[in-house]
Amino acid sequence: MKKSQYDVVIVGGGLAGLSAAASLAHHGKKVALIERGKLGGRAMTINMKGFQFNFGAHAIYGRDQSYLTTMERDLGLKLYWSDFTQMKAKYDLGEDVSVVPSNIGGLLQTKLLKGMDKFRFAYHILFTMLGFEKGDPNVSIQQWLDRKKVSPAVKEMMLNLASSNFFTGEPEKIPSDVFFGYYRRLFKTNIPVSYIQGGWNKLVEQFVNVIEKNNGEIITKTAVERITVENEKVREVHTKKNTFYAEHFIFAIPPEELRTLFQGTVIESDLESYSDYEPTYVMFYDIGLRKRIESPYTYIFDRDRQIFISDISYYDMEAAPPGGQLLQAVAYLRSNDIHDPKAHERLKGEIEAFYDKHFEGWRKQLVIPRVSKVAVVQAIKWTMHQRGLPTSFSKISNTYFAGDWCQGEGQLSELSFSSAYQVSQRILKKSADQKGA
Ligand SMILES: Cc1cc2nc3c(=O)[nH]c(=O)nc-3n(C[C@H](O)[C@H](O)[C@H](O)COP(=O)(O)OP(=O)(O)OC[C@H]3O[C@@H](n4cnc5c(N)ncnc54)[C@H](O)[C@@H]3O)c2cc1C
Repeated sequence: MKKSQYDVVIVGGGLAGLSAAASLAHHGKKVALIERGKLGGRAMTINMKGFQFNFGAHAIYGRDQSYLTTMERDLGLKLYWSDFTQMKAKYDLGEDVSVVPSNIGGLLQTKLLKGMDKFRFAYHILFTMLGFEKGDPNVSIQQWLDRKKVSPAVKEMMLNLASSNFFTGEPEKIPSDVFFGYYRRLFKTNIPVSYIQGGWNKLVEQFVNVIEKNNGEIITKTAVERITVENEKVREVHTKKNTFYAEHFIFAIPPEELRTLFQGTVIESDLESYSDYEPTYVMFYDIGLRKRIESPYTYIFDRDRQIFISDISYYDMEAAPPGGQLLQAVAYLRSNDIHDPKAHERLKGEIEAFYDKHFEGWRKQLVIPRVSKVAVVQAIKWTMHQRGLPTSFSKISNTYFAGDWCQGEGQLSELSFSSAYQVSQRILKKSADQKGA
Protein backbone atom coordinates (compact mmCIF):
# COMPACT_ATOMS: atom_id res chain seq x y z
CA MET A 1 0.00 0.00 0.00
CA LYS A 2 1.37 3.41 -1.04
CA LYS A 3 1.21 6.29 1.46
CA SER A 4 1.49 9.85 0.16
CA GLN A 5 1.61 13.24 1.91
CA TYR A 6 -0.03 16.40 0.53
CA ASP A 7 -0.94 19.88 1.69
CA VAL A 8 -4.55 19.37 0.63
CA VAL A 9 -6.46 16.29 -0.50
CA ILE A 10 -9.68 16.99 -2.39
CA VAL A 11 -12.23 14.20 -2.63
CA GLY A 12 -14.64 14.47 -5.60
CA GLY A 13 -13.79 15.68 -9.10
CA GLY A 14 -16.97 17.55 -10.06
CA LEU A 15 -16.86 21.31 -10.67
CA ALA A 16 -16.50 22.03 -6.94
CA GLY A 17 -13.57 19.64 -6.39
CA LEU A 18 -11.81 20.62 -9.62
CA SER A 19 -12.10 24.36 -9.02
CA ALA A 20 -10.90 24.04 -5.41
CA ALA A 21 -7.94 21.86 -6.46
CA ALA A 22 -7.01 24.30 -9.26
CA SER A 23 -7.18 27.33 -6.93
CA LEU A 24 -5.01 25.69 -4.28
CA ALA A 25 -2.47 24.26 -6.75
CA HIS A 26 -2.18 27.65 -8.46
CA HIS A 27 -1.34 29.21 -5.10
CA GLY A 28 1.48 26.76 -4.41
CA LYS A 29 -0.23 23.96 -2.51
CA LYS A 30 0.66 20.35 -3.14
CA VAL A 31 -2.73 18.83 -3.95
CA ALA A 32 -4.22 15.45 -4.80
CA LEU A 33 -7.71 15.17 -6.26
CA ILE A 34 -9.45 11.80 -5.98
CA GLU A 35 -12.50 11.06 -8.13
CA ARG A 36 -14.35 7.75 -8.14
CA GLY A 37 -15.50 8.02 -11.77
CA LYS A 38 -14.67 10.44 -14.56
CA LEU A 39 -13.76 14.08 -14.00
CA GLY A 40 -16.61 16.60 -14.24
CA GLY A 41 -19.21 14.77 -12.15
CA ARG A 42 -22.64 15.98 -13.23
CA ALA A 43 -21.02 18.55 -15.54
CA MET A 44 -20.15 16.23 -18.36
CA THR A 45 -20.07 16.49 -22.13
CA ILE A 46 -20.72 13.43 -24.27
CA ASN A 47 -20.09 13.35 -28.01
CA MET A 48 -22.69 11.35 -29.94
CA LYS A 49 -22.91 11.39 -33.74
CA GLY A 50 -21.04 14.70 -33.84
CA PHE A 51 -23.30 16.45 -31.26
CA GLN A 52 -21.87 17.58 -27.93
CA PHE A 53 -24.52 16.69 -25.38
CA ASN A 54 -23.94 18.45 -22.11
CA PHE A 55 -25.50 17.10 -19.01
CA GLY A 56 -27.18 20.41 -18.40
CA ALA A 57 -27.12 23.49 -20.50
CA HIS A 58 -23.74 24.82 -19.27
CA ALA A 59 -25.31 28.25 -18.96
CA ILE A 60 -23.71 30.53 -16.41
CA TYR A 61 -26.07 33.05 -14.81
CA GLY A 62 -24.84 36.55 -13.99
CA ARG A 63 -21.33 35.76 -15.22
CA ASP A 64 -19.93 39.22 -14.39
CA GLN A 65 -21.01 38.76 -10.75
CA SER A 66 -19.89 35.14 -10.49
CA TYR A 67 -17.18 33.27 -8.61
CA LEU A 68 -16.37 31.44 -11.83
CA THR A 69 -15.30 34.78 -13.31
CA THR A 70 -13.18 35.52 -10.23
CA MET A 71 -11.44 32.16 -10.70
CA GLU A 72 -11.18 32.65 -14.46
CA ARG A 73 -9.16 35.82 -13.83
CA ASP A 74 -7.20 34.47 -10.88
CA LEU A 75 -6.19 31.21 -12.56
CA GLY A 76 -5.85 32.59 -16.11
CA LEU A 77 -8.41 30.16 -17.53
CA LYS A 78 -8.85 30.36 -21.28
CA LEU A 79 -12.61 30.27 -21.75
CA TYR A 80 -14.62 31.59 -24.67
CA TRP A 81 -18.09 32.87 -23.90
CA SER A 82 -21.19 33.49 -25.87
CA ASP A 83 -23.64 35.82 -24.18
CA PHE A 84 -27.36 35.30 -24.34
CA THR A 85 -29.43 37.75 -26.38
CA GLN A 86 -32.05 39.01 -23.95
CA MET A 87 -34.55 39.93 -26.64
CA LYS A 88 -34.51 36.36 -27.94
CA ALA A 89 -35.72 34.99 -24.59
CA LYS A 90 -39.50 34.65 -24.64
CA TYR A 91 -42.41 33.39 -22.60
CA ASP A 92 -45.01 31.32 -24.43
CA LEU A 93 -48.38 32.75 -23.43
CA GLY A 94 -50.48 30.29 -25.44
CA GLU A 95 -51.63 32.40 -28.38
CA ASP A 96 -48.80 34.90 -28.08
CA VAL A 97 -45.16 35.22 -26.95
CA SER A 98 -43.58 37.92 -24.77
CA VAL A 99 -40.09 39.06 -23.76
CA VAL A 100 -38.79 37.72 -20.40
CA PRO A 101 -38.51 40.83 -18.19
CA SER A 102 -35.19 39.99 -16.55
CA ASN A 103 -33.75 43.48 -17.15
CA ILE A 104 -35.12 46.97 -17.71
CA GLY A 105 -35.27 46.57 -21.53
CA GLY A 106 -37.26 43.37 -21.13
CA LEU A 107 -39.48 44.97 -18.52
CA LEU A 108 -40.47 47.81 -20.85
CA GLN A 109 -41.37 45.40 -23.64
CA THR A 110 -43.04 42.57 -21.78
CA LYS A 111 -46.75 41.92 -22.27
CA LEU A 112 -46.98 40.05 -18.99
CA LEU A 113 -47.15 43.17 -16.88
CA LYS A 114 -49.35 46.10 -17.66
CA GLY A 115 -49.60 49.71 -16.46
CA MET A 116 -48.84 50.13 -12.78
CA ASP A 117 -47.65 46.55 -12.41
CA LYS A 118 -44.57 47.39 -14.50
CA PHE A 119 -43.71 50.13 -11.99
CA ARG A 120 -44.46 47.86 -9.04
CA PHE A 121 -42.18 45.19 -10.47
CA ALA A 122 -39.45 47.77 -11.22
CA TYR A 123 -39.80 49.01 -7.64
CA HIS A 124 -39.16 45.50 -6.30
CA ILE A 125 -36.16 45.09 -8.61
CA LEU A 126 -34.70 48.39 -7.46
CA PHE A 127 -35.28 47.68 -3.78
CA THR A 128 -33.71 44.24 -4.17
CA MET A 129 -30.67 45.65 -6.00
CA LEU A 130 -30.14 48.26 -3.31
CA GLY A 131 -30.36 45.59 -0.64
CA PHE A 132 -33.53 46.97 1.00
CA GLU A 133 -35.52 43.78 0.33
CA LYS A 134 -33.81 41.15 2.42
CA GLY A 135 -36.57 38.64 3.10
CA ASP A 136 -36.74 36.52 6.20
CA PRO A 137 -35.24 33.04 6.72
CA ASN A 138 -38.45 31.94 8.48
CA VAL A 139 -40.77 33.06 5.70
CA SER A 140 -41.13 31.48 2.25
CA ILE A 141 -41.29 33.75 -0.77
CA GLN A 142 -44.96 32.87 -1.22
CA GLN A 143 -45.73 33.93 2.38
CA TRP A 144 -43.62 37.06 1.96
CA LEU A 145 -45.46 38.10 -1.22
CA ASP A 146 -48.82 37.44 0.48
CA ARG A 147 -47.88 39.42 3.58
CA LYS A 148 -46.70 42.40 1.51
CA LYS A 149 -49.93 42.23 -0.51
CA VAL A 150 -47.96 42.24 -3.76
CA SER A 151 -50.31 42.45 -6.76
CA PRO A 152 -51.20 39.08 -8.38
CA ALA A 153 -49.47 39.89 -11.69
CA VAL A 154 -46.21 40.97 -10.02
CA LYS A 155 -46.35 37.96 -7.70
CA GLU A 156 -46.75 35.62 -10.65
CA MET A 157 -43.89 37.35 -12.45
CA MET A 158 -41.52 36.95 -9.50
CA LEU A 159 -42.40 33.27 -9.07
CA ASN A 160 -41.97 32.63 -12.79
CA LEU A 161 -38.52 34.17 -12.76
CA ALA A 162 -37.59 32.09 -9.71
CA SER A 163 -38.81 28.95 -11.46
CA SER A 164 -36.33 29.57 -14.30
CA ASN A 165 -33.40 30.57 -12.14
CA PHE A 166 -33.82 27.94 -9.42
CA PHE A 167 -34.88 25.25 -11.95
CA THR A 168 -37.88 24.36 -9.83
CA GLY A 169 -41.56 23.64 -10.36
CA GLU A 170 -42.17 24.82 -6.78
CA PRO A 171 -40.72 28.34 -6.58
CA GLU A 172 -43.23 29.27 -3.86
CA LYS A 173 -41.25 27.11 -1.38
CA ILE A 174 -37.99 29.09 -1.71
CA PRO A 175 -37.06 30.88 1.54
CA SER A 176 -37.53 34.63 1.03
CA ASP A 177 -33.99 35.52 2.21
CA VAL A 178 -32.49 33.07 -0.33
CA PHE A 179 -34.75 34.52 -3.03
CA PHE A 180 -33.72 38.14 -2.41
CA GLY A 181 -30.06 37.22 -1.88
CA TYR A 182 -30.07 35.57 -5.30
CA TYR A 183 -31.73 38.46 -7.10
CA ARG A 184 -29.59 41.07 -5.35
CA ARG A 185 -26.70 39.72 -7.43
CA LEU A 186 -28.60 38.81 -10.56
CA PHE A 187 -30.39 42.13 -11.05
CA LYS A 188 -26.98 43.86 -11.03
CA THR A 189 -25.60 41.77 -13.84
CA ASN A 190 -24.93 43.00 -17.35
CA ILE A 191 -24.69 39.41 -18.59
CA PRO A 192 -27.76 37.48 -17.38
CA VAL A 193 -26.82 34.22 -19.15
CA SER A 194 -23.67 33.04 -20.97
CA TYR A 195 -22.63 29.77 -22.52
CA ILE A 196 -19.13 28.30 -22.39
CA GLN A 197 -17.95 27.48 -25.89
CA GLY A 198 -17.24 23.76 -26.03
CA GLY A 199 -19.44 23.04 -23.02
CA TRP A 200 -18.49 21.78 -19.56
CA ASN A 201 -15.70 19.76 -21.14
CA LYS A 202 -13.70 22.93 -21.92
CA LEU A 203 -14.00 24.13 -18.34
CA VAL A 204 -12.95 20.75 -16.93
CA GLU A 205 -9.93 20.75 -19.28
CA GLN A 206 -8.91 24.20 -18.08
CA PHE A 207 -9.05 23.24 -14.40
CA VAL A 208 -7.05 20.07 -15.14
CA ASN A 209 -4.39 22.15 -16.96
CA VAL A 210 -3.94 24.39 -13.94
CA ILE A 211 -3.72 21.46 -11.52
CA GLU A 212 -1.21 19.55 -13.65
CA LYS A 213 0.89 22.61 -14.50
CA ASN A 214 1.34 23.13 -10.77
CA ASN A 215 2.34 19.52 -10.11
CA GLY A 216 -0.98 18.49 -8.63
CA GLU A 217 -1.98 14.87 -8.82
CA ILE A 218 -5.31 13.70 -10.25
CA ILE A 219 -6.48 10.18 -9.51
CA THR A 220 -9.64 9.02 -11.32
CA LYS A 221 -11.72 5.82 -11.19
CA THR A 222 -10.79 5.52 -7.53
CA ALA A 223 -13.27 5.97 -4.69
CA VAL A 224 -12.38 7.13 -1.20
CA GLU A 225 -13.78 4.31 0.90
CA ARG A 226 -12.73 5.23 4.43
CA ILE A 227 -11.29 8.10 6.43
CA THR A 228 -9.30 8.24 9.66
CA VAL A 229 -10.24 10.95 12.17
CA GLU A 230 -8.06 11.58 15.24
CA ASN A 231 -8.05 14.45 17.69
CA GLU A 232 -10.76 16.30 15.84
CA LYS A 233 -8.89 16.25 12.54
CA VAL A 234 -9.14 14.11 9.45
CA ARG A 235 -5.69 12.51 9.18
CA GLU A 236 -5.98 10.20 6.19
CA VAL A 237 -8.31 9.12 3.44
CA HIS A 238 -8.16 5.57 2.13
CA THR A 239 -8.88 4.18 -1.30
CA LYS A 240 -8.81 0.44 -2.02
CA LYS A 241 -5.04 0.50 -2.64
CA ASN A 242 -3.64 3.70 -1.17
CA THR A 243 -3.66 6.03 1.81
CA PHE A 244 -3.41 9.81 1.44
CA TYR A 245 -2.25 12.10 4.29
CA ALA A 246 -2.76 15.83 4.24
CA GLU A 247 -2.85 18.89 6.39
CA HIS A 248 -6.28 19.88 5.04
CA PHE A 249 -9.10 18.01 3.32
CA ILE A 250 -11.93 19.18 1.11
CA PHE A 251 -14.83 16.81 0.56
CA ALA A 252 -16.64 17.83 -2.61
CA ILE A 253 -19.00 14.85 -2.56
CA PRO A 254 -22.78 14.83 -2.02
CA PRO A 255 -24.40 14.61 1.44
CA GLU A 256 -25.31 10.91 1.27
CA GLU A 257 -21.67 9.99 0.47
CA LEU A 258 -20.47 12.26 3.27
CA ARG A 259 -22.73 10.54 5.78
CA THR A 260 -21.26 7.15 4.89
CA LEU A 261 -17.66 8.36 5.15
CA PHE A 262 -18.17 10.30 8.40
CA GLN A 263 -20.10 7.58 10.25
CA GLY A 264 -18.75 7.18 13.78
CA THR A 265 -16.97 10.57 13.72
CA VAL A 266 -17.72 13.68 15.81
CA ILE A 267 -19.79 15.20 13.01
CA GLU A 268 -21.93 12.12 12.34
CA SER A 269 -24.96 13.67 14.05
CA ASP A 270 -24.43 17.06 12.34
CA LEU A 271 -24.51 15.35 8.95
CA GLU A 272 -27.51 13.26 10.00
CA SER A 273 -29.64 16.40 10.13
CA TYR A 274 -29.04 16.74 6.37
CA SER A 275 -30.01 13.11 5.73
CA ASP A 276 -33.35 13.60 4.03
CA TYR A 277 -32.16 16.19 1.58
CA GLU A 278 -34.37 16.35 -1.46
CA PRO A 279 -32.53 17.33 -4.65
CA THR A 280 -33.98 19.53 -7.40
CA TYR A 281 -35.00 17.18 -10.21
CA VAL A 282 -35.70 17.91 -13.85
CA MET A 283 -36.44 15.94 -16.98
CA PHE A 284 -34.35 16.90 -19.97
CA TYR A 285 -34.82 15.97 -23.58
CA ASP A 286 -32.11 17.04 -26.04
CA ILE A 287 -32.40 16.66 -29.79
CA GLY A 288 -29.60 16.75 -32.34
CA LEU A 289 -30.95 17.90 -35.72
CA ARG A 290 -29.38 17.45 -39.16
CA LYS A 291 -30.47 20.90 -40.36
CA ARG A 292 -31.16 24.08 -38.40
CA ILE A 293 -34.77 25.10 -37.91
CA GLU A 294 -34.79 28.89 -37.75
CA SER A 295 -36.74 30.50 -34.95
CA PRO A 296 -37.09 34.10 -33.69
CA TYR A 297 -36.07 33.03 -30.20
CA THR A 298 -33.30 31.01 -28.59
CA TYR A 299 -35.10 30.42 -25.30
CA ILE A 300 -38.81 29.81 -24.92
CA PHE A 301 -40.55 29.05 -21.63
CA ASP A 302 -44.02 27.57 -21.23
CA ARG A 303 -45.13 29.03 -17.92
CA ASP A 304 -48.12 26.75 -17.45
CA ARG A 305 -46.31 23.50 -18.06
CA GLN A 306 -42.93 24.75 -16.77
CA ILE A 307 -40.94 23.54 -19.72
CA PHE A 308 -38.29 25.52 -21.58
CA ILE A 309 -36.32 24.96 -24.76
CA SER A 310 -32.85 26.44 -25.35
CA ASP A 311 -31.16 26.59 -28.72
CA ILE A 312 -27.79 25.45 -27.44
CA SER A 313 -26.02 25.41 -30.81
CA TYR A 314 -27.03 29.04 -31.47
CA TYR A 315 -24.64 29.99 -28.64
CA ASP A 316 -22.18 27.11 -28.58
CA MET A 317 -20.77 26.68 -32.09
CA GLU A 318 -19.14 23.38 -31.17
CA ALA A 319 -22.39 21.75 -30.00
CA ALA A 320 -23.60 20.58 -33.42
CA PRO A 321 -21.94 19.59 -36.72
CA PRO A 322 -21.92 22.31 -39.45
CA GLY A 323 -25.48 23.19 -40.49
CA GLY A 324 -26.96 21.13 -37.64
CA GLN A 325 -28.71 22.19 -34.45
CA LEU A 326 -28.77 21.05 -30.84
CA LEU A 327 -31.87 21.93 -28.84
CA GLN A 328 -32.41 21.21 -25.17
CA ALA A 329 -35.79 20.99 -23.44
CA VAL A 330 -35.94 20.96 -19.65
CA ALA A 331 -39.12 20.28 -17.64
CA TYR A 332 -39.21 21.04 -13.93
CA LEU A 333 -40.47 18.11 -11.86
CA ARG A 334 -42.82 18.73 -8.97
CA SER A 335 -42.43 16.48 -5.91
CA ASN A 336 -45.36 14.24 -6.94
CA ASP A 337 -43.93 13.62 -10.42
CA ILE A 338 -40.45 12.46 -9.47
CA HIS A 339 -41.18 8.78 -8.93
CA ASP A 340 -44.24 8.51 -11.17
CA PRO A 341 -43.58 6.80 -14.55
CA LYS A 342 -46.96 8.01 -15.83
CA ALA A 343 -46.00 11.62 -15.08
CA HIS A 344 -42.71 11.06 -16.95
CA GLU A 345 -44.55 9.80 -20.03
CA ARG A 346 -46.98 12.73 -19.86
CA LEU A 347 -44.10 15.23 -19.59
CA LYS A 348 -42.19 13.60 -22.44
CA GLY A 349 -45.31 13.99 -24.62
CA GLU A 350 -45.69 17.63 -23.54
CA ILE A 351 -42.06 18.35 -24.41
CA GLU A 352 -42.50 16.82 -27.86
CA ALA A 353 -45.64 18.89 -28.42
CA PHE A 354 -43.71 22.02 -27.32
CA TYR A 355 -40.98 21.18 -29.87
CA ASP A 356 -43.72 20.70 -32.50
CA LYS A 357 -45.12 24.13 -31.73
CA HIS A 358 -41.87 26.09 -31.86
CA PHE A 359 -39.53 23.98 -34.00
CA GLU A 360 -41.93 22.51 -36.53
CA GLY A 361 -40.40 19.74 -38.63
CA TRP A 362 -37.89 18.65 -35.96
CA ARG A 363 -38.95 15.00 -36.19
CA LYS A 364 -37.81 14.82 -39.85
CA GLN A 365 -34.44 16.36 -39.00
CA LEU A 366 -33.81 14.24 -35.93
CA VAL A 367 -30.41 12.52 -35.88
CA ILE A 368 -30.25 11.65 -32.22
CA PRO A 369 -32.34 12.32 -29.08
CA ARG A 370 -31.06 12.14 -25.50
CA VAL A 371 -33.58 11.89 -22.70
CA SER A 372 -33.05 11.76 -18.96
CA LYS A 373 -36.37 11.31 -17.18
CA VAL A 374 -35.10 12.26 -13.74
CA ALA A 375 -31.84 14.22 -13.46
CA VAL A 376 -30.40 15.91 -10.37
CA VAL A 377 -29.92 19.47 -11.51
CA GLN A 378 -28.94 20.60 -8.03
CA ALA A 379 -28.20 18.29 -5.09
CA ILE A 380 -30.43 20.38 -2.83
CA LYS A 381 -33.77 22.02 -3.39
CA TRP A 382 -34.10 25.29 -1.51
CA THR A 383 -37.15 25.07 0.70
CA MET A 384 -38.01 26.25 4.20
CA HIS A 385 -36.93 22.84 5.48
CA GLN A 386 -33.73 22.46 3.51
CA ARG A 387 -30.75 24.75 3.87
CA GLY A 388 -27.28 24.27 2.42
CA LEU A 389 -24.72 22.20 4.29
CA PRO A 390 -22.18 24.36 6.15
CA THR A 391 -18.74 24.40 4.51
CA SER A 392 -17.08 23.42 7.80
CA PHE A 393 -17.86 22.27 11.35
CA SER A 394 -15.84 23.57 14.30
CA LYS A 395 -15.59 20.00 15.65
CA ILE A 396 -13.27 19.04 12.77
CA SER A 397 -10.80 21.82 12.24
CA ASN A 398 -8.91 20.83 9.07
CA THR A 399 -11.83 19.71 6.94
CA TYR A 400 -14.10 21.58 4.51
CA PHE A 401 -17.07 20.85 2.28
CA ALA A 402 -17.96 22.19 -1.15
CA GLY A 403 -20.57 21.45 -3.81
CA ASP A 404 -23.99 22.57 -5.00
CA TRP A 405 -25.50 21.19 -1.75
CA CYS A 406 -23.44 23.61 0.39
CA GLN A 407 -24.01 27.11 1.68
CA GLY A 408 -22.75 29.55 -0.90
CA GLU A 409 -23.85 32.13 -3.41
CA GLY A 410 -26.09 31.73 -6.43
CA GLN A 411 -27.64 28.54 -7.65
CA LEU A 412 -26.53 25.45 -9.62
CA SER A 413 -22.82 25.42 -10.50
CA GLU A 414 -22.36 28.84 -8.87
CA LEU A 415 -23.06 27.18 -5.52
CA SER A 416 -20.28 24.68 -6.33
CA PHE A 417 -17.85 27.43 -7.39
CA SER A 418 -18.65 29.82 -4.55
CA SER A 419 -18.33 27.16 -1.83
CA ALA A 420 -15.13 25.79 -3.42
CA TYR A 421 -13.61 29.27 -3.75
CA GLN A 422 -14.45 30.23 -0.20
CA VAL A 423 -12.99 27.08 1.36
CA SER A 424 -9.82 27.34 -0.77
CA GLN A 425 -9.35 30.93 0.40
CA ARG A 426 -9.78 29.86 4.02
CA ILE A 427 -7.14 27.14 3.65
CA LEU A 428 -4.71 29.58 1.99
CA LYS A 429 -5.26 32.12 4.76
CA LYS A 430 -4.85 29.52 7.49
CA SER A 431 -1.55 28.32 5.97
CA ALA A 432 -0.31 31.90 5.61
CA ASP A 433 -1.26 32.65 9.24
CA GLN A 434 0.54 29.49 10.45
CA LYS A 435 3.68 30.48 8.49
CA GLY A 436 3.54 34.00 9.87
CA ALA A 437 3.09 32.84 13.49
C1 LIG B 1 -30.00 18.73 -16.58
C2 LIG B 1 -29.05 19.62 -15.86
C3 LIG B 1 -28.95 20.95 -16.26
C4 LIG B 1 -28.04 21.79 -15.62
N1 LIG B 1 -27.90 23.04 -16.11
C5 LIG B 1 -27.04 23.87 -15.52
C6 LIG B 1 -26.82 25.15 -16.03
O1 LIG B 1 -27.35 25.52 -17.08
N2 LIG B 1 -25.98 25.98 -15.37
C7 LIG B 1 -25.34 25.61 -14.24
O2 LIG B 1 -24.61 26.42 -13.67
N3 LIG B 1 -25.50 24.39 -13.73
C8 LIG B 1 -26.33 23.50 -14.34
N4 LIG B 1 -26.51 22.26 -13.84
C9 LIG B 1 -25.94 21.97 -12.52
C10 LIG B 1 -24.46 21.61 -12.53
O3 LIG B 1 -24.27 20.55 -13.43
C11 LIG B 1 -24.10 21.20 -11.09
O4 LIG B 1 -24.45 22.26 -10.20
C12 LIG B 1 -22.61 20.95 -10.90
O5 LIG B 1 -22.13 20.14 -11.94
C13 LIG B 1 -22.37 20.29 -9.55
O6 LIG B 1 -20.99 20.05 -9.36
P1 LIG B 1 -20.44 19.54 -7.97
O7 LIG B 1 -18.98 19.38 -8.08
O8 LIG B 1 -20.96 20.41 -6.89
O9 LIG B 1 -21.14 18.11 -7.74
P2 LIG B 1 -20.99 16.75 -8.57
O10 LIG B 1 -20.93 17.02 -10.00
O11 LIG B 1 -22.10 15.87 -8.08
O12 LIG B 1 -19.58 16.16 -8.10
C14 LIG B 1 -19.40 15.25 -7.04
C15 LIG B 1 -18.30 14.28 -7.43
O13 LIG B 1 -17.92 13.48 -6.32
C16 LIG B 1 -17.61 12.18 -6.79
N5 LIG B 1 -17.65 11.26 -5.64
C17 LIG B 1 -18.72 10.93 -4.88
N6 LIG B 1 -18.34 10.08 -3.89
C18 LIG B 1 -17.01 9.89 -4.02
C19 LIG B 1 -16.04 9.14 -3.30
N7 LIG B 1 -16.36 8.39 -2.24
N8 LIG B 1 -14.74 9.17 -3.71
C20 LIG B 1 -14.37 9.91 -4.78
N9 LIG B 1 -15.26 10.65 -5.50
C21 LIG B 1 -16.55 10.63 -5.14
C22 LIG B 1 -18.71 11.94 -7.84
O14 LIG B 1 -18.37 10.88 -8.72
C23 LIG B 1 -18.78 13.30 -8.53
O15 LIG B 1 -17.90 13.38 -9.64
C24 LIG B 1 -27.30 21.34 -14.50
C25 LIG B 1 -27.41 20.00 -14.09
C26 LIG B 1 -28.26 19.15 -14.77
C27 LIG B 1 -28.34 17.73 -14.32
